[in-house]
Amino acid sequence: MTVAIDRADRAAWAALAEELTLPTAAWIGGPVASRAGVTRTTVDPATGLALAEVAECAAEDVDAAVALARAAYESGSWSRTHPRERAGVLNRLAELITEHCHELALLDSLDGGKRIADTVGIDVPGSAAILHWYAEGLDKVYGEVAPTGPADLATVTREPLGVVAAVVPWNYPLEMAIWKVAPALAAGNSVVLKPAEETPLSALLLGRLAAEAGLPDGVLTVVPGAGPVVGQALGRHPDVDAVTFTGSTPVGRLFQTYAGESNGKQVWLECGGKSAVVVLDDVADLDAVAAGVCAGILTNSGQVCSATSRLVVQAGVAEELTARVVDRASRIVVGDPLDPVTEMGPVVSSRQAARVRAYMELGADQATAAYGGGLVEGARTDCFLRPQVLTGVDPAAAIATEEVFGPVLTVHTVDSVEDAIAVANATPFALAAGLWTDGLRRAHTVAARLRAGTVSVNCVDALDVATPFGGFGHSGYGRDLSLHALDKFTGLKTTWIHHG
Ligand code: NAD
Repeated sequence: MTVAIDRADRAAWAALAEELTLPTAAWIGGPVASRAGVTRTTVDPATGLALAEVAECAAEDVDAAVALARAAYESGSWSRTHPRERAGVLNRLAELITEHCHELALLDSLDGGKRIADTVGIDVPGSAAILHWYAEGLDKVYGEVAPTGPADLATVTREPLGVVAAVVPWNYPLEMAIWKVAPALAAGNSVVLKPAEETPLSALLLGRLAAEAGLPDGVLTVVPGAGPVVGQALGRHPDVDAVTFTGSTPVGRLFQTYAGESNGKQVWLECGGKSAVVVLDDVADLDAVAAGVCAGILTNSGQVCSATSRLVVQAGVAEELTARVVDRASRIVVGDPLDPVTEMGPVVSSRQAARVRAYMELGADQATAAYGGGLVEGARTDCFLRPQVLTGVDPAAAIATEEVFGPVLTVHTVDSVEDAIAVANATPFALAAGLWTDGLRRAHTVAARLRAGTVSVNCVDALDVATPFGGFGHSGYGRDLSLHALDKFTGLKTTWIHHG
C-alpha cells in the first residue's frame, strides 16, 4: 500500500484502518490455514474489539514449516547463493517494507496498541534500515587464513547453521522479528518465525512481502500460535539448529530446557530487565534529565525490555528531580494510539493491564509516596493506565526488583556515587543502564562499573543497528544488531589443505 496520507491526522489513520485487509493466514510456502483449521481472535486493546481471526498453528504446522525450511536450506536456493544476490533480495524486502509503511505501522498499532507516531516514525523505518544494513554488510564479512606452515593452507569460514527458529514478543512486533530475521537470512539460514499471540499481524504480512521480494519458498515461514504449543514445538524440534528468542526470562529458560531435552540446539536469549537510570548531583539541566527519565520509563507504555524502571538519584538533586518527573508523568497524554498527539497508548492487553495494576497496588504499599497509577478514568478499555512514580522504595522490595513491564518508576535516593553504583547493580538483570552527569571523568568511571549490556550516558536508551544489544545475567546473553549478531547465526568452519 503506497497510499499517501496526512500522518498528523487521526481521522486519516482511522479511515485507512477501516480499509485494511488484515493478514490472517500462516505463511508456510504461501498463505495457509492451520492444519486443524483452528483460529485465534486478535483484539485491539484500544477498543476491545476483535480485529481478525488468525490461523492458530500447532505442532503439525511447525513440522511442515521446519520441513520446508530444511528443504530450502539443503537445496541451496538461498544458503549457497552469491552474497550479493542475497543482498539484492534483502534490499528489495526493505524497500517493500518502506512501501507498505502505513499498512505495517497500522497493523502493529491496532494489534498492540502502539502509538502510530512510533510505529510509522520508528518501528517500520527502523526495520527497513536494519534490513538494508545487513544487506550492505553481508558481502563485507571476510573469513580468515590461519597461520599454518608452508605446506598447508587453512581457511576459517563462516557457515550458516541451517534452520533457525525466531521466537519474538509483542512489544515491538515487526522490529523484534526483523532484529532476528535480517541477520539470520543474511547469513544464509532458513528462518521459522513465531510471533507473539497478541501481535501476529505484521509478521504475517512480512512473510508475504519476503516472498514478493524474491526470497525462495520456505526460506522464511511464519507460524502464529500459542507459546506453549508452537514455541515449545520449535524449541524441541529435532531439525531446528538454533533458537533466537526475545521475551521473558522464565520462558527463555524453558528454551534451554527444550534444547537440552531434544537435540542440544543453540539457544540465544534476549530476556527481561530491571534497568536503572543513575542521576548524579552535578547535573545542571534538571528539566532535560526529567524528560529523559520519563522517556526511559514511559516510552511504549513502559513495555520496553531496556526501560529504565528505577531512578537512582543522588540526594543533592533528588527532591527537585523527583518533583519534575512527577509533574511530567502526571501531564502525559494517555489515549488513542491512532491519534498522533497521544504520548502514551494502552498496554497490550487486559491481561497485561491487570498484571501492571497489581504491581501498582503492591508498589503503593511498598513506597512512602505514590503518584499516579491506576486506570485512566473514562477510557474505552481497561488497558489505559496512568503512569506511576513511587518514592521511598527499598531497593530490595519486590516492586524494585521484579520486571513490571509497564509505566511504573521507583525512585531511590542515595548519598554517594558508590551507593548509586551499588543500588543500580543490585539486580540479577543486566540489560541496560542510564547515567546522567556533567562530569567527564565520572561519566567514564561510573559507566564502566554499571553492569549492563548498554549504558546510555546523557541520553535515553541508546540503540543503533551498528551497536550490539543484549545483556548479562538474567537478561540473557545473546546479542542482536551489529555484525556481532552474525556470530549466533553462523558456525566457524576450518578447511585444511595440505599441499606440500
Ligand atoms: P514471553 O516470554 O511471554 O513471550 C515471548 C515469546 O515466547 C512469545 O512468542 C510467546 O508466545 C513465546 N512463549 C511463551 N510461553 C512459551 C512457552 N511456554 N514455550 C515456548 N514459547 C513460549 O514475553 P512477552 O510477554 O511476549 O514479552 C515481554 C518480555 O519480553 C519481557 O520480559 C521483556 O523484557 C522481554 N523483552 C526482551 C527484549 C530484549 O531484547 N532483551 C526485547 C523485548 C522484550
